[in-house]
Amino acid sequence: MQTNSAKNTIVLLGIGHTNAHILKSWKMKPIDDCRLICVTNFPIATYSGMLPGVLAGQYPLQAMEIDLVRLCVSANVRLIIGEVTGIDDERQRIKFADRPDLAFDLLSIGIGSRPSLGGITLENESSVVSIKPMQTLNQRLHDRIDQCASQKEVSIAVVGGGIGSIEIAFCLHRYLQSKNDARFKLKLIAGKSGVGAGLLDSTRQKVLKRLEAQSIEVVQGHRVQTIGQKHVVLSDRREITADIVLWATSAVAPQLLESFDYQKDGRGFLTTKPTLQTASNPNVFAVGDSGTIEGTNLDKAGVYAVRQGPVLWENLNRVILGRTLQDYRPQTKYLKLINTADGRSIAEFKGRSFYGRWCWWLKDRIDKNFMAMYQNYEPMPMATVPVDPDSTDAMRCLGCGGKIGSQILSSVLDELDIVDHPSVIIGLKNPDDAAVIKTRNNRVTVTTDFFASPLNDPYLTGRIAMLNSASDCFVMGAQPTAALALIQLPLQHAKTQLQTMRELMTGSVEELNRFDGAMVGGHSIEGPRLTAGFTVLGDQVSDAKTKGMLAVGDELILTKPLGSGVLLAGLMQARLLGHHYLELVDSMLQSNAIALDLIRQHDVSAMTDVTGFGLAGHLKEMLVASAVSAELELEAVATLSGFEELVEQKIESTLAPDNRINAAAHFLPQENIGAPELAKLFDPQTGGGILLGIAPEKSSAVLSFLNDHGFKKSAVIGQVVPRQGALAQIVISRD
Ligand SMILES: Cc1cc2nc3c(=O)[nH]c(=O)nc-3n(C[C@H](O)[C@H](O)[C@H](O)COP(=O)(O)OP(=O)(O)OC[C@H]3O[C@@H](n4cnc5c(N)ncnc54)[C@H](O)[C@@H]3O)c2cc1C
Repeated sequence: MQTNSAKNTIVLLGIGHTNAHILKSWKMKPIDDCRLICVTNFPIATYSGMLPGVLAGQYPLQAMEIDLVRLCVSANVRLIIGEVTGIDDERQRIKFADRPDLAFDLLSIGIGSRPSLGGITLENESSVVSIKPMQTLNQRLHDRIDQCASQKEVSIAVVGGGIGSIEIAFCLHRYLQSKNDARFKLKLIAGKSGVGAGLLDSTRQKVLKRLEAQSIEVVQGHRVQTIGQKHVVLSDRREITADIVLWATSAVAPQLLESFDYQKDGRGFLTTKPTLQTASNPNVFAVGDSGTIEGTNLDKAGVYAVRQGPVLWENLNRVILGRTLQDYRPQTKYLKLINTADGRSIAEFKGRSFYGRWCWWLKDRIDKNFMAMYQNYEPMPMATVPVDPDSTDAMRCLGCGGKIGSQILSSVLDELDIVDHPSVIIGLKNPDDAAVIKTRNNRVTVTTDFFASPLNDPYLTGRIAMLNSASDCFVMGAQPTAALALIQLPLQHAKTQLQTMRELMTGSVEELNRFDGAMVGGHSIEGPRLTAGFTVLGDQVSDAKTKGMLAVGDELILTKPLGSGVLLAGLMQARLLGHHYLELVDSMLQSNAIALDLIRQHDVSAMTDVTGFGLAGHLKEMLVASAVSAELELEAVATLSGFEELVEQKIESTLAPDNRINAAAHFLPQENIGAPELAKLFDPQTGGGILLGIAPEKSSAVLSFLNDHGFKKSAVIGQVVPRQGALAQIVISRD
């Protein structure tokens, strides 16, 4: 059970075939006293067994995708999507390019491999489509094919020779056939050892026969040395025409592995014991393609990675229990299946090879069954949170209002990058009972906001919470000067609390520093869930364009798409797609500091930020305060990707019904206020955009300014009109 008092943090770096097994097993039964964190470079993991079939059009893209966002939420596991830059082995921390370090007790590295480009002269990089990352292969290949659309003849060379590249060649052939475009010519270039090295002779013969039958030219015996403008040059100096070079050669270690200070084999993979523990650190495992067991020379193949899954799971459990670890014994023979994309497959097993429909049936069945195990995103039942008798939880009296231990606090404060702000006389650099701030012009803006995070990510929570709080300052024409933090940390083991606090405060201070503000103090307590709030003080640097300053004739501009409420609700139910998650996070992290420029440079009439009451609620406030009404063009109101699909699934935020009631009296027509197409108007926003009014002749300049600053979905969404009668009204118009 993943208890809040978990003492041990297990981190999976790279969620490939082996580590995905840990995630699946965890979902069924978490390891006592541990928490699990997955670190990945993409929100999606792909299954290579079905990748060629996807290229051929035999399967839809989703068939080979494991949605890590959904799977992690459903397994109650934290997911970090980020760029890892290294490992601090001494402190057992993973280092990132774009977020604070992550401490681990046990780590399993499974970031796969990459095709080797070593020793190749690259004269034309744009023609190369690498097989990795597999998540983007389909898109990159189609983009490259599109770029060649105007050519009379397009030559595609698959460079490799192993099972993967053979399948890719067969499957690309089928795809090109489906396009019915005779301009495409396909060839398979295999190096010195030729096509299908390592396969039985009988299997190789079958492969070559099928390649010939499908008119796929085979070039073998010499490796590619140079990739030129429209050709490749082989080691025997032959030039082979190639507009597109699909690079699928033998596996070498990813650059990140090379940077780890662990013992490696000749190709840069991490050497491990048979227990899968690295030779360098018993707390660090290396699995799948990323690891090489000392004294073995196995192919880098998914079948080994898959079989390592149960051994790794057992060994993680055993480390925690202090028991002797199990050895992984690689299978000596395994079934090899090659998709020939003609409704058949070639199979090799125990010294025999076959070609036929039943082989394809078998392959299809194995692959679909495999994926079904990882595409079940049903959330696990809510775990109760027992108090671990060994932990300090049992004795926590909350007598001091549940205040966080001073060691955690001082350790985090020591690490933070608190700026020296000229207005701060007493702050966290010389802490006292309260902060003392100097005001520049006697006009101080003060605002406060609280954020109970639906994200299982303290760093992002800190950033988003600070942006939310500071947003109120910006739309009031104020530059944040200082902030006070109010933090509620979940009841966790002290080690975990330290990590949570470190990430949360780093995130919030990073954002505040971007505005030249200083964190001057705060208070933190323990409670049921992570909650972050900030009181932000701002220097009034421009006249506030308050809600009541809308003028009849103004156009209404909304700077960001709506939908974060629905998407976050979908995320909590494991229904938000990984493909949509990153757009949601990016949108919430887009600062509203731009409000200051809009006020100073663009003569805005009035503005507010769109938060918990939804667009309708905040617009209503402006209309009431300005004694006007508005016509809203429903189609012009943009939403985040995935919003409509989730609304169709009847997902909405808990606050949405209240928001509807709040705005109902002002709504025209009222009958359909619950209609799905209006849902966006009542959706409470986290990290929502700015709603502003501006004279129509100035609105296009504002839109291009917003667009230039990354607000790509900003749009005019309606006009301010005179109020008819006693009530300010929001009149909906549809195209
Ligand atoms: C086209 C093709 C077909 C294949 N077919 C077969 C087959 O039929 N049978 C077979 O046995 N083998 C096959 N293979 C080989 C097989 O894909 C690999 O051996 C297998 O994927 C290895 O599994 P893994 O878990 O080590 O790595 P992967 O499955 O590659 O997973 C690694 C994961 O780590 C992530 N990652 C990478 N870098 C980072 C980073 N810096 N930070 C965080 N995460 C990172 C990746 O996004 C990925 O999700 C095929 C390979 C290809 C290319």
